[in-house]
Amino acid sequence: MDIAKLYELQKLDANMLKVRRRVAQIRQQQGEPDDLKAARAVAAATQAEQEQLRAAELSAELTSQQLARRIQDAEQRLMSGEVRNPKELESLQSSVESLKRQRTGAEEAALAAFQRGEEVAARLAREQALLAEVERTWQAEQENLTQEENKLKRIYAQLKQQRQLIVDRLGAPAIELYTQLGTRKAGVAVAAVKNGTCGACNVSLPTGVISSARADEGDPVYCPSCGRILYGA
Ligand SMILES: [Zn+2]
Repeated sequence: MDIAKLYELQKLDANMLKVRRRVAQIRQQQGEPDDLKAARAVAAATQAEQEQLRAAELSAELTSQQLARRIQDAEQRLMSGEVRNPKELESLQSSVESLKRQRTGAEEAALAAFQRGEEVAARLAREQALLAEVERTWQAEQENLTQEENKLKRIYAQLKQQRQLIVDRLGAPAIELYTQLGTRKAGVAVAAVKNGTCGACNVSLPTGVISSARADEGDPVYCPSCGRILYGA
């Protein structure tokens, strides 16, 4: 059995796993981040506030105009000489005064809404600028991530091709052994001998085992401790 090739296959599989994990990570980062969502929500709330203030201002202006017309009508009646009864005159007079007070109130409300609207507009401009900035940064990141993902997909396709070549050369029995052992040993079927120890479980190996592993004379040599195939080169 070509243990060196089997070891090569394992390295390839580890690389493929790394690529798959990174791609999964990239996909997780593709949703809108919290800071962008927050900036968007803040600007939207301020915009709603601005619209409310604008509506309040318009409504107060409309009220003021309606009151102005009513004041004008009442004053015309006062001047016309049609109303002669002193009590009626007095009541009309006080009604005009009351309408004038209401109108002043409506004008003040319109002005207050306008002034607050100006403040809110300034705040909205700042918030929208921040939102645009956060959005730009995020989009740039997204572009980088998309490029990285495309590159990883090309790499993965190459690795897959290489894997197929190795699998064809190793043959079915070796692949079966490798797959079964890998499933039981956390994806690591082959361990390299490093300084007289097993590269996977770090146990010191008997010299006989090491030399058999180095000789690579067909049958695989297993680590006496973890049971993995030893690669002796
Ligand atoms: Zn071992």
